Amino acid sequence: MGLLSEGHPLAWNEIKAALEQLRTYGVDQLLRVYSKCKDRQRDSFTWGDELEYTLVKFDHENKKVQLLLKAHKLLPILHELNKKIDDGECCIAWHPEACDFVVEGVPFQPYGFLPSHLNTVEANMRLRREQVQKFLSEQSDNEFILNIAAFPRYGQGEYTFPPVECSPAHSTEKSLCFPDSLISPIHPRTKSLSENTNERRGAKASINVPIYKDTCTPIPFRDELFKDDPNIIDDHIHLDSTTAGWGCCCLQVTFQAESCEESLELYDQLLPLCPILLCLSAACPIWRGYLSDIDCRWNIISEAADDRTAEERKQKNLFSRYCSTPCYLTDKNKHLNDIKIPVCETVVTKLIEEGMPETLANHFGHIFIRDPLVIMDRFLHPTDETNSYHFENLNSLVWNTLRLKPPPLDDDKMGWRVEFRPMDIQMTDFGNAALTVFLALMTRVIITYGLNLTIPISQVNENMNRAHHRDSARQEKFYFQSTTGVTEMCMNEIINGTNDFRGLVPLVRQYISEREDIDADTRYTIEQYLLLVSKRAAGTLLTNASWIRQFVLSHPSYKQDSIVSEEIQYDLLKKIEQISNGREDCPQIKHPKMETHTELHAH
Ligand code: ADP
Ligand code: MG
Ligand code: MG
Ligand code: MG
Ligand code: MG
Ligand code: MG
Repeated sequence: MGLLSEGHPLAWNEIKAALEQLRTYGVDQLLRVYSKCKDRQRDSFTWGDELEYTLVKFDHENKKVQLLLKAHKLLPILHELNKKIDDGECCIAWHPEACDFVVEGVPFQPYGFLPSHLNTVEANMRLRREQVQKFLSEQSDNEFILNIAAFPRYGQGEYTFPPVECSPAHSTEKSLCFPDSLISPIHPRTKSLSENTNERRGAKASINVPIYKDTCTPIPFRDELFKDDPNIIDDHIHLDSTTAGWGCCCLQVTFQAESCEESLELYDQLLPLCPILLCLSAACPIWRGYLSDIDCRWNIISEAADDRTAEERKQKNLFSRYCSTPCYLTDKNKHLNDIKIPVCETVVTKLIEEGMPETLANHFGHIFIRDPLVIMDRFLHPTDETNSYHFENLNSLVWNTLRLKPPPLDDDKMGWRVEFRPMDIQMTDFGNAALTVFLALMTRVIITYGLNLTIPISQVNENMNRAHHRDSARQEKFYFQSTTGVTEMCMNEIINGTNDFRGLVPLVRQYISEREDIDADTRYTIEQYLLLVSKRAAGTLLTNASWIRQFVLSHPSYKQDSIVSEEIQYDLLKKIEQISNGREDCPQIKHPKMETHTELHAH
């Protein structure tokens, strides 16, 4: 959960005055971590997912649904509950998130290499929702926990319960529609992050999302609420707050490697998969009550979290600190880092002097060009050499599609980990489990078969842009490595294979067929997940985003004007609630009758 640390956050002025000192602390700690842990070997393959859940309240009489600001009340209850459950049964850990309508749930213990663990992922995800739903239902019939990547009318009208006032006077950032009261009061970190992002940037966030131009959408489309704002662009939906980004919900998966070397290799191979999985997971086509022309959240948080000054934004290749992974980590892939990113030269020199390979040193040298946007006062000056607060704090304040997590100095059990971060959360537990298990198995395929998926960073960046496009899973081509070199392939070819590339799902199936320790039940579960990935790539099943878009476009009260009304949102979220709780089938996103075990064997 990043760092849940006690104490008070420093003001931006105080951090600014200490920046040089903070960088020295951070680099020293990184060097201590590296010299202590660079030769760690034989850590086990452990892994776990993180899901961010949204709390909502339905008003059936008025056909409305609102974000429920209740995480601060729920989290202490959930914490107590999971403390009481016997150790053996304790299977969920809850974390606060940036916004008070979101809670983050992770498995209490990371999963292991045992194939049977793959069979518990979905059940654990379901149990998390059940645990929360039980408390919500005790208090009201209308409160629900949902998996939604972005609340459709977030920032539009009266969108919270209890209602909060929306005006610049209620927002430290001076946002017109995202007041401070959305921010989780549990930990002062988030408020400090948004304040300091704005102060460092010297202006409030400015996010422009292309509008979906339907037959009755006014052209040019101008966002009424922001008509006097110089930051708006014609034909774009506007969002004016960091909180607009931090309210989005994702699915992340972290994998522990057996050594530093293996973690770097895994990182490099997962890098080109980030846009591919972003595309397949796309789940948010609606922003502030308007249908947009994009399908996923990544670029929106990228703009929301952007702390660059106006000057810095003019600098070549100095991207937002929330961006696609900017470089490979191993020396052998150095030539693929074809976009030269700015680094802190003194840091790079020092790391290389201490024995770190050049390409890895450059990665950290790039992280150290960023300022630590949040510092808790009691950690300002390290009192001993057994913690790595300043390094980990900075590392967790740079948000790329991948994060290399070196072992912390104060926990000998934790090894080198790679976190996979691009995916939108899926509406159903099945969908989240499918992507999670597919990815976990992909890491085994990568390590076992020594797969090489790497392509130049510039092409990965281009793939990230394409992944955002409307219905990209069916409409776009992506740069991908094949036996004939890098070519442009559609999602079906990447996932299901062509003459020149085996296909990711067939590779996973091969891996599964070669492992003799997997029981029939687990094989069946895995195959259902692979079918989802395979059919979504083939276009026979829809991404969540495409399904949501179709739901809006075919809603009887939709007026072809890109507006997602209270009523449409109400019907949409009611439908999602019913589908995710198994009360309704949705054959466009999941085949109602999955193939049986014997049918599968006949394939
Ligand atoms: P953050 O928010 O910084 O990513 P969290 O604590 O919220 O950190 O999530 C950590 C993720 O890493 C969880 O999915 C958890 O299951 C997983 N995890 C924890 N310990 C290990 C480990 N030793 N190896 C692999 N994964 C781990
Ligand atoms: Mg977390
Ligand atoms: Mg986090
Ligand atoms: Mg989170
Ligand atoms: Mg989040
Ligand atoms: Mg995480």
